[in-house]
This record gives sequence, C-alpha cells and structure tokens, in this order.
Amino acid sequence: MEILNYINGEWIKPKVSEYFDVVNPATGETIARTPLSSASGVDLAAGAASDAFLSWRRTPVQDRVQYLFKLRDLLKSNMDEIGRTITDECGKTLDEAKAEMVRAIENVEVACGMPHLGKGEFVEDIATGIDEMMIRQPLGVCTTIAPFNFPGMIPFWFLPYALATGNTYVIKPSEKVPMTMQFIFKLIEQVGFPKGVINMVNGAKDAVDGILDHPAIRAVTFVGSTKVAKYLYARAASNGKRVQAQGGAKNPVIILPDADMNMATNIIADSAFGCAGQRCLAVSLAVTVGAARNEFTELICDAASSRKVGYGLDAGTQMGPVINQASKTRVEQLIGVGSEGGAKVCVDGRGTTVKGYEGGSFVRPTVIADVQKGSELWKTEVFGPVLGLMHTDTIDEAIALANSHAYGNQASLFTSSGAAARKFRHEVEAGNVGINIGVAAPMAFFPFSGWKDSFFGDMHGQSMDAVEFFTQKKVVIERWPKEWSRKF
Ligand code: NAD
Repeated sequence: MEILNYINGEWIKPKVSEYFDVVNPATGETIARTPLSSASGVDLAAGAASDAFLSWRRTPVQDRVQYLFKLRDLLKSNMDEIGRTITDECGKTLDEAKAEMVRAIENVEVACGMPHLGKGEFVEDIATGIDEMMIRQPLGVCTTIAPFNFPGMIPFWFLPYALATGNTYVIKPSEKVPMTMQFIFKLIEQVGFPKGVINMVNGAKDAVDGILDHPAIRAVTFVGSTKVAKYLYARAASNGKRVQAQGGAKNPVIILPDADMNMATNIIADSAFGCAGQRCLAVSLAVTVGAARNEFTELICDAASSRKVGYGLDAGTQMGPVINQASKTRVEQLIGVGSEGGAKVCVDGRGTTVKGYEGGSFVRPTVIADVQKGSELWKTEVFGPVLGLMHTDTIDEAIALANSHAYGNQASLFTSSGAAARKFRHEVEAGNVGINIGVAAPMAFFPFSGWKDSFFGDMHGQSMDAVEFFTQKKVVIERWPKEWSRKF
C-alpha cells in the first residue's frame, strides 16, 4: 500500500527524503513505507484546515453530524477490511482488531449527539431585565498525534468530537502503523467532507514538532509514551496551545482471597496477554493478598503457558506478536533484568518462534514472581505480554503499593466483598478502575484518561470532556432597555 498524505481533499505524495519501513510483525515482511513528512507537510495541512474553518464552523451542527452518521455506517460496513489491516500492521488478532473498531464507532455515535451535547447555558434575569448566556465555540485547527497500539480506535477518542463541535482537524498517525488510517481516509473521502475540514499528515518527530510549533494549530491531543507526552505537553503549551497528552502505564491488579479465582485468572490473563500486552490498560503487576497467592500463581502460570500464540489472522490464535523486533529485544531484556533483580521467571516467553512465521516478533506470555518494589521491572512499562507477581498480607498494603507507583492509568481489584470494593474504589489513585474487570476501558460516553505520570492535561478524551476540550466558552451578558424596543 502506498502511504500518502490527505490534504484539502486531495491525496498528496509528500516530498521527503526519509521513509520508515512498516513491517508485518507476524511475518517480518515490509508491507509499506511511511513517508516522514517535515514541518512543511504540516504547514500545508494546517493551512488547508485553517482556510476551511470559517465555513465549517458556520455549518449548522445538525448538518455537521450528518457527515459523521455517514462515516459511522462506512466504518461499520468496512469493519472486516479495517480489522485485517490492523492485524497486518499491528499484530493483534482479528477479533481484537474488530473490537477496537467497535470502540471507535461508539465514539462517532456519541459525537453525533452534538446538537444536544454542545448546547450552552442561559439564565434569564440575572438582574432585572438582564440575561446571561454561555456559548460554546470551536477553537480552530485541532490535531491528534497517535500511537501504534490502537491504530483504528485512538484517533476516534478525539476526531469525531473535534469535527462535530465545528473545528477542522489534522491527524498524524503512528509511523509504525499508517495503513489503517490510510484505509479509513478512503472512507472519509467517500463521506465527502468539505475540502480541508479533515487532513492527514504521515511522519514522525519532525511532523510532530511541526504541529507543536505551528501558529495556526490551536489544540493538540496526544496518546503515546510518557517520555514523549511530557516533552510534547511542555512544548505545545509554551506555544500557547491547548493540550492533552495521555502517557504510559504500569497497571496493578489486586487479588483478594475471596475472589472467584477461575474467573479472576481468565480475566487477568486476557488483560495481561491480550493484544500481546500492548494495551495501555493491560494489567502488568498482579498483587495477591494473603491466601490468594498460591492458587492464583498456579492458575495464571497455566493460563500463560496454554495461550495459543501466532498470526492474528489464523483461526484459533489467542495472541499475536509484539510490534517489531526492537520491541521483542527490549521485552526480552526486561525479562532478563527482572530475573537478575531477585524475581523468579515462572513462565518464560523469551526465544519464541512460531512455525511458518519464523520472521515474526513473537514473545510468549511470561509470568515473573516476587517482583521487588523499586526494581527495574517494577518501575518500567514493559508493553509486552509480561505479568509480574507481588504479594502483601493485607488489602491496605496492596493499595499502598499500587498508589506508590508513578503511573496511574488503571487499577483493578478482584473480590466478592462489596466493602473491599468500595474501599478500593475510594482509595486507589488511578483514572480507570476495574472491580472484577481486567480492562476498565470507559465507554465513549465516559471520559478516558489516567492520573499521575499517565496523563498531562485537564480535560480527558471522549464524552463531555472532549466537548469541553474542543470548545471555548463565551459568556454574554445582555440588556435590552424597554424604551429601545418601543421604538420598533
Ligand atoms: P510513542 O510515544 O513512541 O509514539 C507516539 C507518537 O509520538 C507517534 O505518533 C510518534 O510518531 C510520536 N513520537 C515518537 N517519538 C517522538 C519524539 N521524540 N518527539 C516527537 N514525537 C514523537 O508511543 P508508541 O510506542 O507509539 O505507543 C505506546 C505507548 O503509548 C505506551 O507507552 C502506551 O502506554 C501508550 N498509550 C497510552 C494510552 C493511554 O490512554 N494512556 C493509550 C495507548 C497507548
């Protein structure tokens, strides 16, 4: 597939000197090349979006959402092909890829409610004969910089809300997985948005820096690693932009002795090893409390050992590869570092090859017991199918351990006690909390974000938070003296 930019309603081959090879992580084959656009590519897209803004913001909201209704239908009817594209470039199984598109579509559906969601406020007679109102107005050109792990879903935490509220938009997909958005933009072209309303620039750091510095760009949404999130948040904010940056994670799950152990194990295994552990909501540290230790350890080791690993398009595959060879090497090194730091590798996924896919970047599910607080394995986001086990005597110690981590994206608890669940919900420091849930991903009508080093900004993605993020509020106070109105 040839990867092009989409600017002002046209497919454009950017003039670049560098390309990034897109590799199918299961086969090792190069399947596309991402052109690494420079700041001048961003300038073209931002210029087109800027020119389109005035007439788009004046398009009535109920007309703007008609484009989104059409997009929603096209995403739904092309789900299989989008899913296969995600599997090919990202490695996850076809079911996981289609599930991600269900979440994308839900966001389009919620944003279709913008005629209602975007309404302002009005108070009559704040003083006799004086009224006050709040109007939401769009910002102008807004952007998304996306990560590799959900190429089809993550842009939709932002894109439909930005457009429905009357902004124009530029997306920069991850250079590792540009094909999914390339395909989705073919659907966007069929929808027939007015020229310049929605644009795409492919690239990496130079394109990102071009966005962060561009004077016409008013808002930046980002999802990716914490290191880049911090850098981008500071640079975009210093240029006066509205920013939200979702970062990395190290999600704990606490298992109490009264949990249903079989259910807990199945759900935790899906969370830790699903999408090859490359979800920002994947659990990566399991903390057993008291008597839960032995049974959970045994069951999770069995679940890890029996998972079927292979090419995501092959029937029966439960887990695909990690994104590339560099990632495989990094994950395997971290497993090695873990075992040196006093932990014990109970199920070792290093050195995996899959018959027929010898060039693939496979790491089998791995379980490491006795991970030490403060160790490399405790601190670092592995972003692979690696679950560390820890143990405490009480729920208080387990919650304190979870809260002592720098990240706060998600925390989960498995229990049959309502009181324990309530305590956990109240005390745990994370933006997304699961009670007997392994991937606590908010539906589109709830906000999505972590806390602490997992998030930089105020307004979260999705739902009313996205409406707030993509609009600026104007307050008007009005008086119409009676004698003036009598003149007409
Ligand atoms: P990444 O930070 O490497 O890349 C994300 C985006 O930033 C890409 O578009 C990339 O081109 C750009 N980028 C990379 N390096 C840059 C630099 N030095 N300067 C400017 N731009 C740069 O992240 P990734 O590897 O694609 O994605 C995995 C990460 O994303 C994990 O840390 C994961 O936890 C995180 N993530 C977080 C959430 C969340 O909701 N918090 C969701 C999904 C993924």
